Amino acid sequence: MKKYINQDDMRQVNSSDVFNLIRIQKSVTRKQIEGISGLSWGGVSNITSRLLDAGYIIETKRLDNTGTGRIPTCLEVNGKDNYVVGIDVNMTGINAVVSNLKNEVIKDFHYEADFANSSVLLDSIFNFTKEILSEFSDNKLLCIGIAMQGIVDSKNKASVFLPGCKDWVNVPLAEIMENRFNLPVYIDHDPNCILLGHGFDKEYENAVLLRIDKGIGMAAMINGEILTDSGLFEIEHITVNPKGELCKCGSKGCLSSYVSETGITERLGLSMGEIFNAALKKDKKALGIFDDLANYLGMAISNLVKIFNCDEILLCGEMMEYKDFFLAKLNSCVKTASSYNKPCKVSVIDVKDATFGAALMAIYNSVKSLNI
Ligand SMILES: [Zn+2]
Repeated sequence: MKKYINQDDMRQVNSSDVFNLIRIQKSVTRKQIEGISGLSWGGVSNITSRLLDAGYIIETKRLDNTGTGRIPTCLEVNGKDNYVVGIDVNMTGINAVVSNLKNEVIKDFHYEADFANSSVLLDSIFNFTKEILSEFSDNKLLCIGIAMQGIVDSKNKASVFLPGCKDWVNVPLAEIMENRFNLPVYIDHDPNCILLGHGFDKEYENAVLLRIDKGIGMAAMINGEILTDSGLFEIEHITVNPKGELCKCGSKGCLSSYVSETGITERLGLSMGEIFNAALKKDKKALGIFDDLANYLGMAISNLVKIFNCDEILLCGEMMEYKDFFLAKLNSCVKTASSYNKPCKVSVIDVKDATFGAALMAIYNSVKSLNI
């Protein structure tokens, strides 16, 4: 279906593209932006003057090495005056960073979250945010980005469902935060933020990220863009064993039953600690559980590689604590299965990129929302 893009949408796309171009090039003249972007001179002048007015970029003088005596005016991202906040709301705690617009982290924060119910959790998020904002009250804070677990409707700025917090349903979190703190607030699914943060200095075309904790979250980047939509990628409920046990979703042998913490512990009636300790003692049953994890996750990843033509598959989350028991086998499964595709690397990364990615997501959204 062809998507209709009006003039305002085009201007927003161009403003974020120009900002991104300046960020990547580090120092660039307007003439160079015109050449690289294909925008008209008038368009470049208009967008850059708006970005200058709003404090997103600054003008600098480049040393004259042309011998012509002309000193070109360059544009750079403003790394000094304006900051953004990136927050990751997670059952293991709420983490945050304050970064500048050059994506340099100025300070990071951690807060113990209480997920008892929605009102207690909202209070935790409010108190934490208040603490951060008060510490940076002498600086200009432009916006807040929030990475959330569960189901997120980023277009409507809502957290639809949050596992572990029983009465958290359709919470318009960004709107509530905007009203309370008087700053623009943007929200996205945490795997999207981790992938955005991790891919920041990489040159991925296509990549897929799986966050495996109690459940399995997924994000995908196609042609350098993160795919976003609410309820996208219910990867944990794809069938990997048609003869497997019935899952609460109604299907049999879902990926989650063999790979996520909740799936494994509920299926076997053992805690991950018990399985890990038994595996350390080379217990055959425990080692078999990790073999199953490698086989079924390998099957799912091999399918993802074929669907998305991935450069890299990124794995993160609490289940990576046990990677020594499954990663080698998983890699051999994926290598075998992807022999007809380009080689695909499987890497384990840290979830701390979620806060950084949330800040990055907020910067992009805030540039897009500039009235150019
Ligand atoms: Zn299921």
